[in-house]
Amino acid sequence: MSHAPALRVVVIGGGLAGLAAAEAVTEHAAGRGHAVTLIEAGRRLGGVLATTRRDGWLVERSADCFLAARPEGIALVDRLGLRGELLGVDPRVRRALVWQRGRTVPVPSGFRLLAPGRVGGILHTALLSPLGRLRLLAERWVPRRHEAGEESLEQFAVRRLGRQAFERLVQPLAAGIWTADPARLGMAAACPEFLAMERDFGSLWAGERARLRTVATTEDAAGARYGQFVTFAAGMQTLTDRLAERLRSAGVEFLMERVTRVDRGADGWRVAIVDAVGVDRTLTADAVIVATRGPAAAAMVASLDPRLATDLAGIVYAGSVIVSLGYPRTHVAHPLDAAGMVVPRVAGRRALAVSFSSSKFPHRAPPGHVLVRVFLGGVFDPAALVLDDGAMVELATREASDLIGATGEPQFVQIDRWADAMPQYHVGHNERVARIEAAVESHPGLALAGAAYHGVGIPQVIASGRSAAAAISGSARG
Ligand SMILES: Cc1cc2nc3c(=O)[nH]c(=O)nc-3n(C[C@H](O)[C@H](O)[C@H](O)COP(=O)(O)OP(=O)(O)OC[C@H]3O[C@@H](n4cnc5c(N)ncnc54)[C@H](O)[C@@H]3O)c2cc1C
Repeated sequence: MSHAPALRVVVIGGGLAGLAAAEAVTEHAAGRGHAVTLIEAGRRLGGVLATTRRDGWLVERSADCFLAARPEGIALVDRLGLRGELLGVDPRVRRALVWQRGRTVPVPSGFRLLAPGRVGGILHTALLSPLGRLRLLAERWVPRRHEAGEESLEQFAVRRLGRQAFERLVQPLAAGIWTADPARLGMAAACPEFLAMERDFGSLWAGERARLRTVATTEDAAGARYGQFVTFAAGMQTLTDRLAERLRSAGVEFLMERVTRVDRGADGWRVAIVDAVGVDRTLTADAVIVATRGPAAAAMVASLDPRLATDLAGIVYAGSVIVSLGYPRTHVAHPLDAAGMVVPRVAGRRALAVSFSSSKFPHRAPPGHVLVRVFLGGVFDPAALVLDDGAMVELATREASDLIGATGEPQFVQIDRWADAMPQYHVGHNERVARIEAAVESHPGLALAGAAYHGVGIPQVIASGRSAAAAISGSARG
């Protein structure tokens, strides 16, 4: 047995990033001994990931699925023994629709966020005018960009695909992910894969074709078996609940308190916390992982490193609201034969998207009923977040009536407001993160994790927790 002193680690934030970091710390510390304390300011673990079940309805409060193609999500699922509970999106509805002039039109087949993958899909789409289609097809001949400086998503998409494809396809699909302003979203941080396609293959068209060839020959069972996106039969909270259980049995201590400051003293790291009744105390540790949103992290390190705090505080967040509505099937005219629909900003509506939850996954609604989630808010409509419940439901049901032909009172309603929950990777984000990481490196034993830095998707957030754990694994006491 090792006689090295146990590594005392404090993880701040009990969202997916913090939980994944704590898990990886317990792995790294195996054989050495560890004392891991995870501190969460909210009343529950899981952060934004949460599932509610009521009267036969199963409703995701935020994320409803994650990308199977990236390894980090599936690897965690396997470590937790949850493979048997995974579900892919129903193959019959693996497509998205776009709202256009009073009807829904499918996203051209083979089109993925920015990349046209199939000529046929574009030639036949009703979403674009003949000129818009030609312009999109001409993407493969648009020369590579050589100028220095990062482009925004809007600049990149308009330059490569044309304005019409940007407005009718890219903007609404991107809004569905980041609820963002595409004129400010930076390509390098938000869409590095597509930037690399232009750089490495000369066009998105060629890059996507190459990717499809690799996907077709890859042995990756997850992607092949489930399609692109997966969830759990009992909802996304399965992941964080099971992870928290695993940590508890590995001896991780959970404190449901709020961290106010992270500082360094003669005896190591000091973490100041305040409990529910306002009593302060300080924990000491060999290493600290801060897995909160940027501004919360900034407040904690303000006295330790004011410049680091300024960069963290500069990460901008947008909010959104999800209004989940349940109807008898016969009260919704739309066939709901897709994963959902996105609504272009040019349509001038308040809904950003409608996800057809009960079409995507089984057992989300009682028999004979359907569940949809109406997304409101986003960076262009912050006022939606402060509507009172009555006005919110009225707005969401009006949108559901226009967009999917829902009639009558919904039988199920749930409102989930997510203020400042989605980091916006604006132009310059990567440079900001590089400054943040350089600053953090100058404080041995400190690491950051979470959606604020290298990707908002669930696999990337898991990866951020694991790399924070790796970064502090060598930290010695004192
Ligand atoms: C509405 C919505 C829908 C989404 N949909 C998808 C999707 O379908 N697929 C997908 O892959 N991703 C999706 N995402 C993104 C993904 O869910 C998030 O990026 C990820 O869950 C964030 O995890 P996190 O741990 O970084 O942050 P959080 O979940 O925000 O956790 C941070 C935690 O830190 C705690 N904290 C803050 N301050 C303190 C403090 N002072 N002391 C102690 N604790 C503190 C908070 O209470 C919180 O629990 C969605 C996100 C949102 C908001």
